Amino acid sequence: MFDFIIIGGGIIGLLTAKELQQTGARVAIIEKNSPEQQATRAAGGILSPMRPWHYSDAVNAISQISQSIYRDLSQQLHSATGIDPEWILSGMLVLHDEETAEAIRWCQQHQAAHKMLAAREFQQQFPYLKPIQQPALLRDDVATIRPAQLAAALSRYLSDQGVRFFKQNAQSLLFNKQRISGVQLANEVIKAKEYIICGGAWSPQLIPAESPAPEILPVKGQMICFPAIGIPKPCMVMDGNRYIIPRLDGQVVVGSTRENTGFDASTSPEAFAELRKFAEELLPALKGLEPHAHWAGLRPSSPDSIPYICRVEPYDNLSLNAGHFRNGIVLAPASAQVMVDILLERSSHIDHSPYQLRRSSSAN
Ligand SMILES: Cc1cc2nc3c(=O)[nH]c(=O)nc-3n(C[C@H](O)[C@H](O)[C@H](O)COP(=O)(O)OP(=O)(O)OC[C@H]3O[C@@H](n4cnc5c(N)ncnc54)[C@H](O)[C@@H]3O)c2cc1C
Repeated sequence: MFDFIIIGGGIIGLLTAKELQQTGARVAIIEKNSPEQQATRAAGGILSPMRPWHYSDAVNAISQISQSIYRDLSQQLHSATGIDPEWILSGMLVLHDEETAEAIRWCQQHQAAHKMLAAREFQQQFPYLKPIQQPALLRDDVATIRPAQLAAALSRYLSDQGVRFFKQNAQSLLFNKQRISGVQLANEVIKAKEYIICGGAWSPQLIPAESPAPEILPVKGQMICFPAIGIPKPCMVMDGNRYIIPRLDGQVVVGSTRENTGFDASTSPEAFAELRKFAEELLPALKGLEPHAHWAGLRPSSPDSIPYICRVEPYDNLSLNAGHFRNGIVLAPASAQVMVDILLERSSHIDHSPYQLRRSSSAN
């Protein structure tokens, strides 16, 4: 018998497990092992909403808390496991578009570090990028991380700390009146005092019919990656809806599409060609290089982009931490804290009310 069973071993499930394990609880994670669809392994790893001015205070509040946690978290995992999640303060360049004025206003209002680079200064600092006509916004306090390495480090760390992994599909939740009594796996039922659904885009499939259904839908994102090139000052660059993320080893990740294709996580030659063309125009040194990787993942989208972090009625011992859409990597550490505050009835300085299951789906 465990204290907590978490269904889903993406970033949300892993960090929720870490937060619980630190309290001395006995924790299990059930993960059906779908790396070809999982959002976490597909993510770029930008540790900020791409356009925070598009998001509600509820999203930006937990984003800011998470950003302040990531550097130490990355170091802790690296030294404990030998796997480096590669937190780097890369900065984020936002090339001029129709939202630039709004972006500057947001930075000013939120005291977010930023400066405007005119064409000449831009050229001096980023000679490898295409020249600009209009000033670009540089947010140099934005960091990136490598999500697949982060997930690998977390899985290793949690195993070493005694968290039990079940590499199986959780078929259904068993219940008795208002209590969940177990999780049905292929050949056994496993039991805990509390159950937490962290199943990303699949979460609604696990919610019993008696409960209000979370509005979470899969939204596919495709990415490509170029082999390493020498970039003197790796900085993430956003140009419209597309972006490039240079990695520490010189590889360049390019993203991403946004497609409503249900649970189909296949890649397409059209997206490959489009992302490649975008990247070659922005970073001409990529011309002639063949991208060596192309993948897709399913983002768990909620109607207002605010995650559900809450208890699930009418059950006494069922909770949900899911629906982080495009921001699950950056929101994960604070989301895990909110979840565990609720589970352990800890006092919290974060207002939990925006993350409830029953809420009006206001636009963000
Ligand atoms: C292309 C792309 C780029 C992105 N870039 C960024 C970014 O730069 N920054 C950022 O913050 N966010 C980004 N995101 C969003 C981020 O990846 C997601 O919000 C986040 O990974 C969601 O994490 P999760 O753990 O909720 O879901 P997932 O990572 O999808 O994990 C859910 C897990 O639950 C498991 N599961 C589900 N049902 C069951 C079951 N019945 N039994 C057992 N296991 C089950 C699945 O196998 C899966 O592994 C990106 C997403 C994509 C697709």
